[in-house]
Amino acid sequence: MNLAAGIDVGGTKCLGVVIDDQGLVVREVRKPTPTADQLVETLAAIVGELGEHATIGLGVPGLISREGVIRSSPNMSTAIEFPVREKLAQALGEPVWCDNDATCAALAEWQRGAGVGSRDMWMVTLGTGIGGGLVSGGALQHGAHGHAGEVGHMVVQADGDDCPCGQRGCWERYASGAGLSQLAGGITGEEVISRARSGDVAALEVLNEYCTWVALGLANIANMSDPDTIVVGGGVMENADMLLPLIDQRFATMLYAPSHRVHPVLKSAQLGERAGAIGAALLHLHD
Ligand SMILES: [Zn+2]
Repeated sequence: MNLAAGIDVGGTKCLGVVIDDQGLVVREVRKPTPTADQLVETLAAIVGELGEHATIGLGVPGLISREGVIRSSPNMSTAIEFPVREKLAQALGEPVWCDNDATCAALAEWQRGAGVGSRDMWMVTLGTGIGGGLVSGGALQHGAHGHAGEVGHMVVQADGDDCPCGQRGCWERYASGAGLSQLAGGITGEEVISRARSGDVAALEVLNEYCTWVALGLANIANMSDPDTIVVGGGVMENADMLLPLIDQRFATMLYAPSHRVHPVLKSAQLGERAGAIGAALLHLHD
């Protein structure tokens, strides 16, 4: 049996897994995400605790070059031009595969989750921000410099809300989990959804507005690249039973020439918080 290890470097925690040939998680290790100067040490410790493995992959948020250099990362402001792949490989004495965390999540959902069987797929994660990754023509896409799929910073409102990235009106200001909370005047997304479930009219209005923002971005993505499937994940999609039909309803009217085309299927992600780590473990098969 081939055991593959993968680590997802998240905003607050690093999640490491070892998967078997079927993609099932056989071991798991979690540690708090350290500052950039402690990153390699922490990752090496996780690999040590994960134990036996044939390959090791790493998913990192932000702009990661194809060579595994962190150009800039939202959660580690001091990680600029940081060659994490090379440093970890040196520390471990074995090769390391490395990619953007959302690209890893897309790979996992495509190979082992909601996107199995798709040839042209997007995975969009609605979390604190919005991550994106894509498969085109049956192959995972990286872009010329490793930065494909940064849909969270697609501008949907010129002169809109300030985004930490320095631009204004980015899609993630409105359609992320944090965007839902902001639309609701500061209460948590979970609270809005719970109020909407109990029939609160104001909460339902907020949810309708939120789903319209989500659908707007998904329609832009679909118009641009014509996928057969869009997998939607992230914390808010734990309420996919309520949100996905609302999103789908709007998405179907926002597509270009909606009555003359096959619509991409919107699916709820299946792998949850482990998607990034599982995808990192699969990177060695899709470099
Ligand atoms: Zn932005």
